[in-house]
Amino acid sequence: MRLVLVGPPGAGKGTQAEFIAAHFGIPKISTGDIFRANVSGGTDLGRLAKKYMDAGDLVPDEVTNAMVRDRLSQDDAVDGFLLDGFPRNVAQAGELNGILDEIGSPLSVVLDLEVDFDEVVKRLSGRRTCKKCGHVWHLEYDPPSSPGVCDKCGGELYQRDDDHPDTVRHRLDVYARQTAPLIDFYRSSDQLVAIDALGAVEDVTERAIEALTPFADDAVADEPAS
Ligand code: AMP
Repeated sequence: MRLVLVGPPGAGKGTQAEFIAAHFGIPKISTGDIFRANVSGGTDLGRLAKKYMDAGDLVPDEVTNAMVRDRLSQDDAVDGFLLDGFPRNVAQAGELNGILDEIGSPLSVVLDLEVDFDEVVKRLSGRRTCKKCGHVWHLEYDPPSSPGVCDKCGGELYQRDDDHPDTVRHRLDVYARQTAPLIDFYRSSDQLVAIDALGAVEDVTERAIEALTPFADDAVADEPAS
């Protein structure tokens, strides 16, 4: 299954991506995670990406596209993948189509996680991430038992620079201008399924898996012959 996950920042893409990828046995490829790993590792790519990320802007397409092209050429992505956070504009979607044409494997489906913007601001500004293991907590929805400390590993929790309220608003604006047109692009090519991403994490995962199962590689084989 070759799957793209779209939805505004804070729709829960990262969390859902993990569960969905595990369910269908495909690697989760998150451009945001790859950029953050490069920032922590102090690489040239990380230094370049950081200034865009901190401002809530998109990293330039040439940089992002080259990184995704490289990642999709790795062995674990041959039989399928879940892309989380890419494409993020129509030009990146064109690049992805080009890569898929080259490898002769079309996209299976695009899943849109729908959530309203007020909810997104609440979700993102309450988010706290563990410095050590990367687990994401939420001050209101999923608080750690002691403030500022990760229950899983004892690491220190921090607020991502791009989760501060002003930056969140800017990211939503970037989403509305650049990423929302993608949804029309995929809808018009009949590649889109949308689900309501509000509610408990497990309920959203269940909705996602139900919506995606007909597109899994073995779904066709399971259908009765006509
Ligand atoms: P995310 O974790 O997906 O919200 O991504 C965090 C930040 O990484 C974004 O605000 C962008 O600065 C950058 N980023 C992630 N994916 C992309 C992409 N496909 N194109 C450009 N920038 C991206």
